[in-house]
Amino acid sequence: MADCKRCLLLESAGANTLDDIRQRISKLSEKEKAQEDLYAKRLEMCKKCDELISGVCMKCGCYVEFRAAFIRQRCPDANNRRW
Ligand code: SF4
Repeated sequence: MADCKRCLLLESAGANTLDDIRQRISKLSEKEKAQEDLYAKRLEMCKKCDELISGVCMKCGCYVEFRAAFIRQRCPDANNRRW
């Protein structure tokens, strides 16, 4: 798989990884989980960010589709926090 700048796993070839992430997200409690609209807004911000490569945030090494699912998580870029 070629690195895809500003791509989510959803748009790259990481289908197995995405399935695994979705399973993990489904196990989060409602208290832990970001609401769907918030989750979507966060991922839209990531898609506009130069730090996103093939679904991974270069600031923290997380899959953004997983990190963004946690209500208490924040964008890790302290100098330019996007969410
Ligand atoms: S720095 Fe923030 S906005 Fe950019 S990819 Fe990472 S989490 Fe997303």
